[in-house]
Formats: sequence, C-alpha cells, structure tokens
Amino acid sequence: MNEEIKQLTELQVIDLEIAEFDAEINAEKAELAKSDKAFNERQVLIEELKEKIEASETQRRELEGQLADDLSRIKERQSKMMQVQTNREYQSLLKEIEDGKKNIKEKEEEIVRIMEAAEANSKILAEHESLLKDEKKALAKESTQVKKKAGAIEGKKAKIVAKRDAMAKKIRTSTLKNYDMLRTRRNGKAVVGVVNGICQGCFMSIPPQHFNNILKGDRILNCPTCQRILFHKPESDKE
Ligand SMILES: [Zn+2]
Repeated sequence: MNEEIKQLTELQVIDLEIAEFDAEINAEKAELAKSDKAFNERQVLIEELKEKIEASETQRRELEGQLADDLSRIKERQSKMMQVQTNREYQSLLKEIEDGKKNIKEKEEEIVRIMEAAEANSKILAEHESLLKDEKKALAKESTQVKKKAGAIEGKKAKIVAKRDAMAKKIRTSTLKNYDMLRTRRNGKAVVGVVNGICQGCFMSIPPQHFNNILKGDRILNCPTCQRILFHKPESDKE
C-alpha cells in the first residue's frame, strides 16, 4: 500500500476512536439534559399551580367581601320592615330581602366550589413539590456522576489525541487537509477500501482504468462518486 495512504488509514483508526469518545461524552450529557428538562418542566408546573391557588384565594376574598356587604344590606332592609306603612312597601322590601338571600346562597356555593378546587390544587402541588425535591437530589447525583464519567473519558481521549497529533505531523499538510475535509463530510470515514472494483464507502463501481491506477498504489486516488480516498483491498480481508 502507498505509504501515505497507510498513514491515513492508521490515522483514521485513531480518529474513529476519538469520535467514539466524543459520542460517549455527548450521550452522557444528553441523558443529563433530559433529566434537567424534566426538572425544569416540573418547576414551571409548580409555579402555575401556585398562581392558580393564589388566584382562587383572591377570588374567594372578593366574594367574602361582597357577601358581608350583602348581609348588612339585608339586615338594614329587615330593620326597615318595622317601620313600613303600606303593604306595597312591605312587599317590595320583602322581595329585596328574598333576592338578597338568594344571592348570598349563590355566593356561598361559589365560595365552596373555589375552596374545593384550591384544595385539590394544593394536593397536586404538594405531590409535585415532593417529586421535585426527589428529582433535585437525583439530578445533583446524576450531574456529579456524569461529570466524573465525562472526565474519565476526556482523560482517555486526551491521550489518544496526543497520539493523533504526533501522527498527523508526519503527513503532508495538503494530504491531511484533504483527509480532514472528507472525514467531516463523510461521517468519519475518509479512507476506504475497494473490493472487487466497488468502493466500500458508497458501494459504487470504480471505472476499470481508475481501478488499475489504484492497484498501482503510487498516488492518492479518490472515488469518483463519493470522493473518499481509496486503497485496494483484496477480497479476503473484507471487513
Ligand atoms: Zn465511493
């Protein structure tokens, strides 16, 4: 095999290992982000419940204030009853009192409904607050674990990156640049074998003349379809 291609295939092995370390670190962080998101969502839910409970408390106080006014109005009408002169006046006051009582009853019922709803919400709130407390602890624990794990992976990665840098220094800048560009565009695989005239990167046929040149192995040649760097791979050592 062409010496430069050989260097690139070795470099690729290392780069794929580095990519695997990165994927491991990202997977750890993604899990943590998921837990963090769930925690934040519960926090929002709790705030919403608190607001709802507060709003019903305000509404209840308002109704109670109105209720007190209604009651004193009825009392006032009742004392007036003693002084009425005519039946018409009497009937009119009586109606006012009856209506007032009906109104009070409705408000009282409304207050009960509001209080029941607030109570139900308070129960739900307590459940979520308890869950949040547990989640907070779990999240802190998970965060510490992820940092530890990610740190360990970073440590392994740093060693291999140092090895990679040393290897890369031995490769021509233009070749390395081409390789790095392909690596980014082709999901990490920049150098692939040709088996039975087929590029193992895109699985397209390599034209015979091009294949003959690859067989010679005297220079770097790319796949005409996917542009990956090619080397000849006898069928026996197919992956
Ligand atoms: Zn190809």
